[in-house]
Amino acid sequence: MIELDGSTGEGGGQILRSSLTLSMITGRPFRIINIRANRPKRGLMRQHLAALRAAATVCAAQVSDAEVGSTTLEFTPHCVKGGVYEFSIGTAGSSTLVLQTLIPALLYADVPSVVTVSGGTHNPKAPPAQFLQRAYRRVIEQMGANVDIEIERFGFYPAGGGEVCAAVWPCTRLRQIELMEPGAMCKAYSEAFVARLPLSVAQRELACIGEGLGWPASQLHAHALEHTQGPGNAVLITLEGENATEVFSGVGEKSARAEAIAGNALLEAQRYLASGAAVGEHLGDQLMLPMALAGGGRYTLDHVSQHAITNAEVIAHFLPVSITFEQGEKFSTCTVRTNTAQ
Ligand code: ATP
Repeated sequence: MIELDGSTGEGGGQILRSSLTLSMITGRPFRIINIRANRPKRGLMRQHLAALRAAATVCAAQVSDAEVGSTTLEFTPHCVKGGVYEFSIGTAGSSTLVLQTLIPALLYADVPSVVTVSGGTHNPKAPPAQFLQRAYRRVIEQMGANVDIEIERFGFYPAGGGEVCAAVWPCTRLRQIELMEPGAMCKAYSEAFVARLPLSVAQRELACIGEGLGWPASQLHAHALEHTQGPGNAVLITLEGENATEVFSGVGEKSARAEAIAGNALLEAQRYLASGAAVGEHLGDQLMLPMALAGGGRYTLDHVSQHAITNAEVIAHFLPVSITFEQGEKFSTCTVRTNTAQ
């Protein structure tokens, strides 16, 4: 049984989610204590419980008693089974983080899968659905995976009520890749979505991004969604390079001005563009898991977060790999290598 301490490093929900994914794939059971010990509300929240239950369903795992607030649990997986699944978070919890947990595991299933998750599609501190669709999917497809992601209905934090559907085809062997630079920019655009909110919110966000990046109106797209979706708002900046796509985002909040929401996404995009790295901070902390499954890989990232360092430590508990970060002048390089027997 692999023993993990959820208070190490970042001490957040990613320690549990990465452990679930890797336990499902390797068949190795784990026990985790101090779940999300560094967060103000410790223990499992509904979103983490949803990921746990979804993972357990997909691999018929045995799970010790787990409920909202649990700080300890044991997970004993069985085989990953493909098929048609529907999971509901029941709150605005991030549906994309549930998919982030399941997609790599379903690559190792016996048959293709279609997974529908209802909950939030655009949440602060989580990948927006388009990030999975455009940024994450593009890299894993370069590694040989075949995944399709559709937004069935938008669900913005805090209301939720959205739905994302992923189709995943089995891929027994992921290819090792190197992603060292984004390459020439092929497409760059920003989208602002509003549901049951004035279109002027989207227009103000886009004006802020247009000004910050020097983009004309043709690269800025405001979308008013049908009233059956929302309420809520999100703004995205998509940078599609020859080798990699990045998506930077902001999710509207009642207490925050549209300019502040767009401003955060803009700063992240500007930092990424100035660095010359292939990927940004978030894609950077999510790529090492598929690369570790492939047995190796290398990429440049604009910022190495505590999140990334913690994820590297979790991965090394399950797979015989070492993950290192080398700080350069403008960006860092992450190298994933299989440990060779001494
Ligand atoms: P907590 O930190 O409260 O335990 P959590 O379980 O939701 O919450 P984290 O451990 O912080 O989450 O993990 C969040 C995940 O979401 C990470 O994989 C991170 O890369 C990703 N993420 C966060 N913000 C973005 C964003 N703007 N774009 C893409 N991915 C994001």
